[in-house]
Amino acid sequence: MKERGLLIVLSGPSGVGKGTVRKALFSQPDIQLQYSISVTTRKPREGEVDGVDYFFKTREQFEQMIRQNELLEWAEYVGNYYGTPIEYVEKTLQEGKDVFLEIEVQGAMQVRKVFPEALFIFLAPPSLSELRKRIEMRGTESEELIRDRLKAAKEELEMMDAYDYVVENDQVELACERIRAIVMAEHCRRERV
Ligand code: 5GP
Repeated sequence: MKERGLLIVLSGPSGVGKGTVRKALFSQPDIQLQYSISVTTRKPREGEVDGVDYFFKTREQFEQMIRQNELLEWAEYVGNYYGTPIEYVEKTLQEGKDVFLEIEVQGAMQVRKVFPEALFIFLAPPSLSELRKRIEMRGTESEELIRDRLKAAKEELEMMDAYDYVVENDQVELACERIRAIVMAEHCRRERV
């Protein structure tokens, strides 16, 4: 039987650049990871595509997915639901492929209960002031939302120690390289005979 794939969870505070690092990682031609697309009730930002960035759903649809146990984890984050469809994750791991989740901290802690063997990586900002700058620079959020996201970010930073690895996102390319190295090392560690 084929060995199960590795489940990799990347989380970290909003604005730290998880999306940017993930996109840079997946733009590499030799990458062997499968990205799990999340479900959300947040409205699409400009340029976001349904089924590529997220599966965009109504609150009713999302709540139905919760009731039908279709989500591996879910969280309410700054007024919207976000969750990971379980079917894709299970199927892909069973095929022996590595699955990559990019999710916030509450969700990551739920994943740990179901998949304690998963690899947990926390992407950290160089500093809180840098994080605020990055959230503001995105320019998609109102002042109130920025405040909420920064408050959530501070709480999320306190969870850093619960992760297997902390990767600083000082430069996107460097952060990508660190994540690749961690995944490679983890395979060597788990697959030794
Ligand atoms: P954004 O609205 O900026 O796309 O995402 C807000 C936060 O939700 C980010 O920290 C992002 O990583 C997280 N997120 C995205 N998808 C999921 C998911 O499926 N589950 C959980 N728990 N968080 C998610």
